[in-house]
Amino acid sequence: MSLLDHLRRRVATEGPLPVTDVMADALTHPRFGYYATRDPFGAAGDFVTAPEVSQMFGELIGLWAAVVWQQMGSPGHVHLVELGPGRGTLMADALRASRPVPGFHAALQVHLVEASRTLREIQERSLSGYASSWHDDVSGLPDGPVIVIANEFFDALPIAQLVRTGAGWHERRLAFDPQTDAPVWTLTPGISPLAALLHPTVLMGARPGEIAEVSPAALSVADLLARRLKRDGGAALVIDYGHGESAAGDTLQAVQAHKSVDVLATLGEADLTAHVDFAALARAVSQGGGLAHGPVTQGAFLSALGIAQRAHGLMAKATPEQARDIEAATVRLIDPGEMGTLFKVAAWTGPAAAPPPGFEA
Ligand code: SAH
Repeated sequence: MSLLDHLRRRVATEGPLPVTDVMADALTHPRFGYYATRDPFGAAGDFVTAPEVSQMFGELIGLWAAVVWQQMGSPGHVHLVELGPGRGTLMADALRASRPVPGFHAALQVHLVEASRTLREIQERSLSGYASSWHDDVSGLPDGPVIVIANEFFDALPIAQLVRTGAGWHERRLAFDPQTDAPVWTLTPGISPLAALLHPTVLMGARPGEIAEVSPAALSVADLLARRLKRDGGAALVIDYGHGESAAGDTLQAVQAHKSVDVLATLGEADLTAHVDFAALARAVSQGGGLAHGPVTQGAFLSALGIAQRAHGLMAKATPEQARDIEAATVRLIDPGEMGTLFKVAAWTGPAAAPPPGFEA
């Protein structure tokens, strides 16, 4: 059975499926999910993420985490958590770079939140030198001060899509054409209660036909982390592509072999993501009692953390060919025409914490 057969069967018994269900099954279903069935990263896969572009990305984040720990007063125990660790590259680079910081590693417990069994095995190999534990979701993390890293995790959390008509907001759902049996989008006949989660500027400004998105799963992770950070202290670093202000628009996209492809035509075969609404997450964080810093652009964040200095340090010991690669990777990570501006970085803390590195006023 394929993901498409599975969705067809679900629609036959449950009726048209919300985009949240389609995205959840397409990405994390244990048998049919995109992440459950493959390692999609790197040149031979479907896409390349920042930690796979250069070791500098994870190294700078490891040092960021160590400084945050010092700002917390260097507690004797701290959970270092990564959400959606992919191949485990970021965490391995972060741990290697932060090892010299006195007392940091002795205080650390490493936790990975990962839905995919296939990727967990790869992460176990990347992190074989460290005592780490794996969790299915954020709610299973143990209590205590926490430093959370999430690179391209929130864009994989399911979104609902709402479509504006003359009557109001209807939810977009997946159905199958009775004639051709091909997947098609339909609308719920009634008005969707999810519209209550949309920001007033989106609610008021939209014209008929426009699409708005909301991710209940992302909002609940933000809320949970905010409560946690308020109670136990620490910080979360969220890096993703998305927008700083809530706005209408269809951002659901499928990527296969480094190209954007049709969502319905490639169900189960392509990565499915949506732009992260940083403003909506920031509102969830403040409602949960936390403070949201930023977002700043990835280019500005990595520059503030000293990527230029790190690149020079590495190039000094490199062959001419390696030096060119380091230079190219730096450009790719920070240039506005590459990942530098589309990717944003936000930090969340408890209400009393100092702004973390990269977010000072
Ligand atoms: N951070 C990595 C990988 C990004 S891809 C990098 O930058 O390279 C998204 C990651 O999140 C994958 O590891 C995927 O398996 C995981 N993931 C996606 N949805 C998830 C969910 N609902 N719960 C836990 N992990 C999830």
